[in-house]
Amino acid sequence: MMDAERRIPLVDLHAQYVRIKPELDEAIAEVIATSSFVRGPHVEAFEASFAAVTQRQHCVSCGNGTDALYIAMMALGLKPGDEVIVPAMSWISSSETVTQAGGKVVFADIDTETHCINPLDIEDKITDRTVGIIPVHLYGHPAPMDKIMKIADHAGLWVLEDCAQAHLASLNGQSIGSFGIAATFSFYPGKNLGAMGDAGAIVTNDETLANHMARFARHGGLQKHEHVIQGINSRLDGIQAAILNVKLRHLSDWTQKRQYLAARYTTGLSKLPGLRCPSVGKGATHVWHLYAVQVEARERLKEALLDRGVSTGINYPCALPLLPCYKKDLHQPSSFPIAHTLSQETLSLPLYPELSEAQQDYVIDAIRAIFGDE
Ligand SMILES: *Cc1c(COP(=O)(O)O)cnc(C)c1O
Repeated sequence: MMDAERRIPLVDLHAQYVRIKPELDEAIAEVIATSSFVRGPHVEAFEASFAAVTQRQHCVSCGNGTDALYIAMMALGLKPGDEVIVPAMSWISSSETVTQAGGKVVFADIDTETHCINPLDIEDKITDRTVGIIPVHLYGHPAPMDKIMKIADHAGLWVLEDCAQAHLASLNGQSIGSFGIAATFSFYPGKNLGAMGDAGAIVTNDETLANHMARFARHGGLQKHEHVIQGINSRLDGIQAAILNVKLRHLSDWTQKRQYLAARYTTGLSKLPGLRCPSVGKGATHVWHLYAVQVEARERLKEALLDRGVSTGINYPCALPLLPCYKKDLHQPSSFPIAHTLSQETLSLPLYPELSEAQQDYVIDAIRAIFGDE
């Protein structure tokens, strides 16, 4: 049963490379031939294209998605004691950067259906020290931005969208990343739009903020030797930008393929008792960075699939407030019941645009067999 065909990874970056190899190789060769290694024309072209794709006026590229969050918050200017509300379920970048930028992390629980931050819990966590909210469009599902913006506007808070997993997602026809004051993206290789190394960007319509962010990311000056503030060095390589320019042309097709495959999973798996397929909220365009099912006996399913050659992922094994690095804050699982439960029961199935229907059918059949449905 476990021949080479039947070994199905969680993601297959090589399969993507093989399909667009001539385009990528040519783009990389051109950067090398012109020695435009750091910033330069490929980076400028990518910033312009990506701003257009996200319907924003400015795109500031940087070294990775974590830096993007950090740079944005440094530009927004946190003072000691300023509180920022972050979902209890995400990748740690969403919270660690608040601390790095000098703020205090306040966690809010997530919603069972969308796995994104719960607006009701945001309202409960607002104090007179709260300055901002970082919604994360987790797994590619848009956070409820209409409700979040209403809360933020009412309380006078900024909203910084973490779009690392949600390139091209939208809510009621509006592109994610265009709701808040600014939005951050990661182009880590496994993301829906991925470089061949680290890369990230921030988009905004606020020109002053964009200049502030660019200045901080580039040693404190927009021009060489300017240094009006002390900054950091976080920038996009020419090679990564050239790769992203090629891949950006395919992103819409790849996203549609993810949506097609996600719908096939849901059709194939929705009737299994004990397994819950992810749902899509009203008005939401989900871009399926991950297809994460909910199952109580997660470890058993993971092992049984691995026996059949199918790799799965656990995103994420621990709710953020319960990580060892936040131990001093004495958070309890009972304060974040949804994030804690989902951290124990969520399993990500193989999903990438190059996954064939035959491969996916093999995964679906394997899960049904494990559940004794065949
Ligand atoms: C990947 C990711 C990041 C960080 O991006 P890097 O490019 O790896 O630094 C931030 N937030 C979320 C939700 C992510 O998934």
